[in-house]
Amino acid sequence: ISSLTQADPQVFGMMEGELARQRDGLELIASENFVSLAVLQAQGSVLTNKYAEGYPHKKYYGGCEYVENIEELAIKRACELFGAEHANVQPHSGTQANMAVYFSVMEPGDTLLAMNLDQGGHLSHGHPLNFTGRWYKVVPYGVKPDTETIDYDAVEALAKEHKPKVIVAGASAYPRFIDFKRFSDIAQEVGAILMVDMAHIAGLVAGGAHPSPVPYADFVTTTTHKTLRGPRGALILCKEKYGAQLDRTVFPGIQGGPFMHVIAAKAVCFHLAMQPEFKEYAKQVVANAKALAKGLSDRGFRLVSGGTDNHMMLVDLRSKKITGKEAEKVLESVGITVNKNMIPFDPEKPMVTSGVRIGTPALTTRGMKEKEMDLVADLIDRALSHPDSESEKEKVRREVKELAHRFPLYPELSNPWC
Ligand code: PLP
Repeated sequence: ISSLTQADPQVFGMMEGELARQRDGLELIASENFVSLAVLQAQGSVLTNKYAEGYPHKKYYGGCEYVENIEELAIKRACELFGAEHANVQPHSGTQANMAVYFSVMEPGDTLLAMNLDQGGHLSHGHPLNFTGRWYKVVPYGVKPDTETIDYDAVEALAKEHKPKVIVAGASAYPRFIDFKRFSDIAQEVGAILMVDMAHIAGLVAGGAHPSPVPYADFVTTTTHKTLRGPRGALILCKEKYGAQLDRTVFPGIQGGPFMHVIAAKAVCFHLAMQPEFKEYAKQVVANAKALAKGLSDRGFRLVSGGTDNHMMLVDLRSKKITGKEAEKVLESVGITVNKNMIPFDPEKPMVTSGVRIGTPALTTRGMKEKEMDLVADLIDRALSHPDSESEKEKVRREVKELAHRFPLYPELSNPWC
């Protein structure tokens, strides 16, 4: 068995490039984070070798005594961390977690009420090319034009009119708290099942920096790799009465062998999220988002809904006469990573957009605080105000690298792995 450097120098070289990119730049993609060494070690481990179809103590393979204990621990920790009755830690991705819930309680042709994709919803909430858009009757809800916050009265009216089987609360691009109790009241009023997709905010919920949906929702899905700072994968929480059906839908319904190395890394992530330091982290993510939002507003950027309650903000770039697509490219050229994003009622096409989505989870993990956020706002402003000035962009590029290096990423690592 040879090492990666010997066996495949081509892939190794690209991985080294990626480590350098992460170290040298400012990562502001709201859905990204940097996992701890402990998570990295668990995920890059010999557990990848093991098949373990089924659930702890009911596995279809021999040799599962260690991995099933790990899975059992991950389930116990997930329930403890979020105060849930039942957890399934096997979904490979957020989309598959959502699929498992839909398949547990819906039939093709049933109605799904979920957030409009143009206003913050996720592909797996009803995009026409996604399985949700193809198999279900999707009714979208959105935000109010004046406040750009969820129009709960409209959600209620749509729920009464369309009698959805499932209502989805949760988003990929929504900077405000979500009123889970209101969603739950609406769902109960029309006899719908409430699924909360807390993929973006799970770390804030775990750390007490965002109200929890768990008491209100029948199902809660989440990815584990965003604010929760775990491995790439997902988790489903639900009320006990749905547990057996949900587990059957995940396996054998839509997945085969679980990724035991990823489940081990999820267990580590849940353990770390229960520590007091994680509460501090979650609080700082929000404080940093508020500081960055202020820094950008002070420099003339309009923020959708006027600011943020969570880890992200949507920046309306129209006052700066630049599109989201252009801004993403300019910022990337100076080492700042963001993604173009539709703003509510966006006049531009989805591949162009009038906005960018910016989030603070990754920079907060590096140790940056409010003071650095103002600096980041300044760097963004300078790059976007002079998109055609190579000399200004060169200055910004240098300052981006200097700031990044003041907060070293994985200083212990000499390779892109542990
Ligand atoms: N749900 C929400 C709200 C998301 O933002 C995302 C990913 O960005 C997902 C689900 C899907 O996660 P994955 O990319 O793991 O399928």
